[in-house]
Amino acid sequence: MVLDEFNPVSASKTAAGIINPVTGRRIVKTWMIDELLPFALNAYDEIGAELGMDCIAPKKTIDFFPTPQMRLAFLKRFEEDQQYLQLPSEENDWLPYFHYHFGYGEILSCWLVDLINLLPAFRKRLMDRGVLLEEKFSIDHLVVGETEITYKNIRAQKIIFCDGIAGAHNPWFQSLPYAPNKGEALIVEIKDLPSSHIYKKGISIVPWKETLFWVGSSYEWEFRDDLPTPEFRTKTELALREWVKQPFTVLDHLVSVRPATLERRPFVGFHPVKKNVGLFNGMGTKGCSLAPYFAGQLAANLAHQSAISPDADIKRFNNILTRSVTS
Ligand SMILES: Cc1cc2nc3c(=O)[nH]c(=O)nc-3n(C[C@H](O)[C@H](O)[C@H](O)COP(=O)(O)OP(=O)(O)OC[C@H]3O[C@@H](n4cnc5c(N)ncnc54)[C@H](O)[C@@H]3O)c2cc1C
Repeated sequence: MVLDEFNPVSASKTAAGIINPVTGRRIVKTWMIDELLPFALNAYDEIGAELGMDCIAPKKTIDFFPTPQMRLAFLKRFEEDQQYLQLPSEENDWLPYFHYHFGYGEILSCWLVDLINLLPAFRKRLMDRGVLLEEKFSIDHLVVGETEITYKNIRAQKIIFCDGIAGAHNPWFQSLPYAPNKGEALIVEIKDLPSSHIYKKGISIVPWKETLFWVGSSYEWEFRDDLPTPEFRTKTELALREWVKQPFTVLDHLVSVRPATLERRPFVGFHPVKKNVGLFNGMGTKGCSLAPYFAGQLAANLAHQSAISPDADIKRFNNILTRSVTS
């Protein structure tokens, strides 16, 4: 049974849907990407087949170098490791669409998850099967027994919290080192830009639907509220005007808070004291690639008691989790 209130601004509904095999200014390989990527591709193919849709597509990233230093950093990484990087055969070919002065590199094996269509289609499937209760979950109605969980009239063996940023206030897990991170993006119409690629130059322009593009994002560790800021909009519009040659229109401004963690690793597994209370959270900036793999591990753990990767298993916090329920 899935309990989920309809939250139009959840992190998943705000995300661009990118799976990128390299990360950061130094373009290093994303954590565990060689294991995560094949697993995620297979999982999205299976989900797509069940829903009768294609929910993932390859999208090469065109990484325009914002400075000569960034160009050098890319070339250095390219010399060290060419698994996911490529140099273009003709550096001027994007000049009809963009202003750029320091060339570009290409990032291969990038994928785009079609979250806009996938999330409602999956929700509908849960509803059609009668396994979605669309309401706000309140912990006051939850009774956790030794062998049974009850919530209102639902009886279950286990409960697993996948509550995103709300998890930082979950009484069983709030002592975990969450590090919420606010992110903003604009939805922009750019009529003549090909939707065949992801474009990056500090910010990213990502195909959203038809002639619309997702443009973002910000990463704020300190913030007062989860509202859109005029500063982000102004800064992003200015960056777009200096970069994109086509006219564009801003249609929407999205904002959400990423359920990120201090050590940038997910929180997966069961509570050491309340053994039938589980957690699937902390996907941070990379839910699209991390979630399929670790959901697979959690399911296998439930079915066959197989191990969860130590880097992700909340066992690593057994001491603080035990203390927080016994003190
Ligand atoms: C601007 C931005 C861009 C991003 N881009 C990318 C990207 O390109 N690629 C990528 O991999 N990741 C990206 N992310 C990160 C990604 O969004 C997250 O990793 C992922 O969505 C986390 O999923 P989640 O299910 O844990 O949380 P959420 O998507 O927030 O889902 C939590 C759910 O729990 C429900 N819930 C919580 N409390 C209750 C309650 N009491 N009762 C009922 N329901 C409840 C909410 O309604 C919600 O549906 C981005 C995030 C942001 C903000």
